[in-house]
Amino acid sequence: MDTEESNNDNIEKEEELNPEPSESREEKPEPGTATPVPLETAPRASVAGVDGSLDDYMTAQQQQKMMEQMMAMQASGVAMDPQSMMMAMMNGGMAGMNGMPMGNQEMSMAGPSMEEQIAVAKPMLQNLDTTDKKFIDTHCHIDVMFKKESYDGDWDTYRDNVAIQFPNSYEGCITSFCDPKLFMRKFAFDVLKSETVHCCFGVHPHYATLYGAEVEAQLELLIGHPKCVAWGAVGLDYTDKYGRTDHSLQQAVFKRQCELAVKYKKPLVVQCRRAESDLSRILKEVVPREHKIHRHCLNDRLETVKDLMEYFPNMYIGFTNVITNNRAQDARDAAAACPLERMLLETDAPHFVPRTLRSEVFGGTTPVSMSHPGMALCVALEIAQMQGRTLDEVLEKTRENCRNMYGV
Ligand SMILES: [Zn+2]
Repeated sequence: MDTEESNNDNIEKEEELNPEPSESREEKPEPGTATPVPLETAPRASVAGVDGSLDDYMTAQQQQKMMEQMMAMQASGVAMDPQSMMMAMMNGGMAGMNGMPMGNQEMSMAGPSMEEQIAVAKPMLQNLDTTDKKFIDTHCHIDVMFKKESYDGDWDTYRDNVAIQFPNSYEGCITSFCDPKLFMRKFAFDVLKSETVHCCFGVHPHYATLYGAEVEAQLELLIGHPKCVAWGAVGLDYTDKYGRTDHSLQQAVFKRQCELAVKYKKPLVVQCRRAESDLSRILKEVVPREHKIHRHCLNDRLETVKDLMEYFPNMYIGFTNVITNNRAQDARDAAAACPLERMLLETDAPHFVPRTLRSEVFGGTTPVSMSHPGMALCVALEIAQMQGRTLDEVLEKTRENCRNMYGV
């Protein structure tokens, strides 16, 4: 898919530049929880984004083009020290990437400083906040957000003092813990102390090689946490972006977790990339028709999930800020056509910065390098616009869907 998730790519770049292994955090299990079992450190490809949906949005050609533009800028005498170049990349500020005219004027770094840009961006979400309805971000990754910001505190302080302003309509979020290496860390339990944060636990297909008896035992323990509302994100991802993965292993791990979710009567959060027929086969084989399923971050045409939506009457489809991207046509078409009573709002934060926060003020660039759960409001706005509904209607119905799906 040829779209321009430059921010997400920048997140990946940032990750490479500032590797901060999660293992480096000094985290100990909370008293009263099980002692962490040392996990097998099976070799795996480096995984920049948790969900692996990023590479679909940034082709190698685009990256190449960006590099060529940078070289051209240097050759044409535009003064740019390495730090400024990196800043431009992190801001998604390479004009050609956003379809803007490429010129030395725009590319000189004489514009507003980072601090000035952030000062402008901070109240933007509140300006969009024209409703008294509430929403819940049904899928995000607080562990990844904290890691990216090297933040080591509690969620409410992060929300109030660290992040870009949250809108008043934000009510809470469901954070997905899907990296087994982080399952038993203290900070996960700290985050869950916040009244408005719920969670799900599951082994993501990227981490299938880490699945084993010990991880499964942890999951069976964690799934009973009072704030845990689902099993996931689990699923299949055949994009093989970080090297060839064992698809049959992914299937076995996925199937096993589906069986456990059914056993423990937990709703399933499911991710799928280029594996529709295997996913459909396994779900139908293992999961009862009435089971609740959140098909997370649909970026394909709605037709790809139509059969499963008919088969599973309690399947909901999650949409992220990918749908705010004009070039993500399949996802936009799906969001426009999906029945509102089957939709959930999600951000997949820190991924997918909404276009809404990019285009209005900064001509396609943004000072926001990552998203947060408050930005699910932008998904709702986009759905309202595409389906010809009011924002209140979208928020009200998706809030009800969230309650039906997760009981929160
Ligand atoms: Zn995710």
